[in-house]
Amino acid sequence: MDFERKTYSLDHLASADIPMRGVSETLYRAALERVGGTLCRAAAERLSEIEEERHILIVTGFPIPPKNVCETDGPPGAAVLAYTLRDVGLKPILVTDKPCEPVVRGIIEDEFPVELISVERDRAERQCEELLNRYDPAAIVSIERPGWNVKGEYHTMRGYNISDLIGKTDHLFLKARERGITTIAVGDGGNELGCGLIEETVRRHVPNGDRCQCPCQAGIAASTPADILVIAATSNWGAYTISAALAELKDVEYRHDGKRELRLLERVIKAGGVDGVTGEPTLTVDGLPTLVNQFVVELLWTIATA
Ligand SMILES: [Zn+2]
Repeated sequence: MDFERKTYSLDHLASADIPMRGVSETLYRAALERVGGTLCRAAAERLSEIEEERHILIVTGFPIPPKNVCETDGPPGAAVLAYTLRDVGLKPILVTDKPCEPVVRGIIEDEFPVELISVERDRAERQCEELLNRYDPAAIVSIERPGWNVKGEYHTMRGYNISDLIGKTDHLFLKARERGITTIAVGDGGNELGCGLIEETVRRHVPNGDRCQCPCQAGIAASTPADILVIAATSNWGAYTISAALAELKDVEYRHDGKRELRLLERVIKAGGVDGVTGEPTLTVDGLPTLVNQFVVELLWTIATA
């Protein structure tokens, strides 16, 4: 199967607006313009060039109020990417914050190290510096991780301020960029880390993008960019497309089908996670019924293994 055709189909399926939020197509096109080619292909090619044994930081976890626990979108994508990176000889390290720690640890069943970044700004900055020094990562990948806006504030899609909850992982991306370390991001709404690459599009087209519901009044649009931004309708799907494309490039098996998706979601719920749209502890992602999400994952697997 031709790699360009395969990654084109993966990109288009993952960004199809099945959750019907109304912004996927616009954000996808903006990212395509900035990245300059099929998104999962660009991300996978960059990762495929890294020499074996290097560390890759995967930043994930979006805490959802009022329970302040991690949502089901993010950690499954991070887990599948981590397994794929290990299969190709790289060393993944997961990074999150205190509210999301149980779900992130639970989903990878403690197979990889998990590092926590503080909600406190100065402390977070020092921790991020220290992580880069300790692991000397070849790349940092964020998957459905909150990203701060131009005023350094974090928001939900509905425009509410959640800065007190969020470990300030934006420092990781900003410092990585200063050091010339590759940054790759996966997002679906425009308020995620890395979506600064298409900030103007988010401001124009996403509800609350330009003006939030909190006193900062600067909008939910994330301001920190990534080198490569993968936009999907649900971020897990975007992470699966990167994993599938990387598996193809490195000739390893891509195994994440619908059945495995269900097992990952069961781990998230067991660890206390909730659906990011409904806030309920159900085997759903972004409000999509379990079977619909599983079916998309099965389709991605079908394309990936064709
Ligand atoms: Zn605000």
